[in-house]
Amino acid sequence: MSETCIFCKIIKGEIPSKKVFENEEILAFLDINPITKGHTVVIPKNHYETILDLPEGEMQKFFSALKKVASMIKKNLDADGFNILQNNFKAAGQEVPHMHFHIIPRMEGDGAIKFPPQMDVDSEYLENVLKEIKS
Ligand code: 5GP
Ligand code: ZN
Repeated sequence: MSETCIFCKIIKGEIPSKKVFENEEILAFLDINPITKGHTVVIPKNHYETILDLPEGEMQKFFSALKKVASMIKKNLDADGFNILQNNFKAAGQEVPHMHFHIIPRMEGDGAIKFPPQMDVDSEYLENVLKEIKS
């Protein structure tokens, strides 16, 4: 637990939330500023800053709960699809430093999330990137 973390305060009940799912280790609640109807945030109850801090031993339970919530949302909101987004570090848009996944229900043609422009690159470029990642 972190004293200053907004999501830890939600877990402790110090800040109210609309809970979609809860068990011993995981909490899912509606995002206060939803991108679409049913936008849900899924968090581990232990405070980890980014996905890199999530212990191996907690991953299975976390992803199992994430899938369960995604399935509930898809079915009960009759969504055509959903995006799962996860931001790590400020540079990637992480505002709350408590590891979380967004589940964002999507309807055909809603245009709610657009994939950013992609680079046009050649094989040599990709080969160099590959070397760098694996170095
Ligand atoms: P991030 O940008 O860190 O990936 O996403 C943080 C998310 O948490 C945002 O979508 C934001 O709307 C949501 N959020 C921030 N504060 C609160 C809060 O107090 N209650 C709820 N339900 N959501 C919050
Ligand atoms: Zn926290």
